[in-house]
Amino acid sequence: HAKEQMSGIAVYKPEIDPHSPKRLAMMSELGRAIREDQLCLYYQPKVKLDSKTFYGFEALLRWNHPELGFVPPNDFIPIAEVTSLIHPLTAWVLEKSISQCCLWHSQGLNVSVAVNLSARNLLDENMPKLVRTLLQKYGLPASSLELEITESSIMSDPSRALRVLQQLHDLGAQLSIDDFGTGYSSLAYLKKLPVQTLKIDYSFIRNMLEDKQDELIVESTIHLAHSLSLKVVAEGVENAALIDRLSSMGCDEAQGYHIGRPMALAQIDEWMAESVW
Ligand code: C2E
Ligand code: CA
Ligand code: CA
Ligand code: CA
Repeated sequence: HAKEQMSGIAVYKPEIDPHSPKRLAMMSELGRAIREDQLCLYYQPKVKLDSKTFYGFEALLRWNHPELGFVPPNDFIPIAEVTSLIHPLTAWVLEKSISQCCLWHSQGLNVSVAVNLSARNLLDENMPKLVRTLLQKYGLPASSLELEITESSIMSDPSRALRVLQQLHDLGAQLSIDDFGTGYSSLAYLKKLPVQTLKIDYSFIRNMLEDKQDELIVESTIHLAHSLSLKVVAEGVENAALIDRLSSMGCDEAQGYHIGRPMALAQIDEWMAESVW
């Protein structure tokens, strides 16, 4: 069963229990979803705060289930993660994102694309080969691909994850630590990881204008990142005041509803026409 050992206490996490009937049904359907084109990617813009320019998209997975309708990724990715489905799922996301990014390049839109990787992907020694093959297949420069990983996904088997990350880095892909501040990694690990960017978790950004502690956490994370020569992205930026404050703190990049929501491909042209970025 899905239990997480925390200092001797087993914490039951029903949301990732692969044996609950609802989850089991979803699991078998997820395999079909991948084959039958029920999945799609939404793209959320990422911008640079100093130059006020838009430079890339994060690919976010969506499942349009024939009966349940729209199923959010937090409901089905944990299921894929405890089964082997995460492998074809990530391969699908990588191929879609890389081919879409190439299409943008061919249209003169020189953007990067960011893909989220799961813990299981970092333990998969075939991952670097898959990424290399897909980059070659579509002719995308590796520097246009960003891979987002979380601290906790590294900690399950740090030395193995580090090997995979090093190979992904050697290919020339950009690596980011997602949800920074919510995991368990130590600063010693941060120094060893071949990453270029920290993404400060939404939970710290959300209230930082009202909550002095959150503001201090954000500010010290920016300083920490910069002193390690890392870029910082703030996620979950929902208003203009946050953009101003983050800019004055020296935060490099931002993402959030205020800048642009995750969008289907059809909405992107409209966003670009109206956006100030
Ligand atoms: P994440 O990687 O931290 O992605 C950011 C989440 O915050 C996304 O939720 C996004 O829609 C949402 N978000 C963006 N801006 C704002 C904002 O201003 N305010 C608020 N309240 N939320 C904002 P989403 O798309 O539901 O994805 C949830 C999580 O599912 C992602 O968190 C990521 O961990 C996972 N995920 C999504 N797509 C993939 C994928 O292709 N592969 C893997 N392994 N995980 C994925
Ligand atoms: Ca992410
Ligand atoms: Ca995140
Ligand atoms: Ca998150």
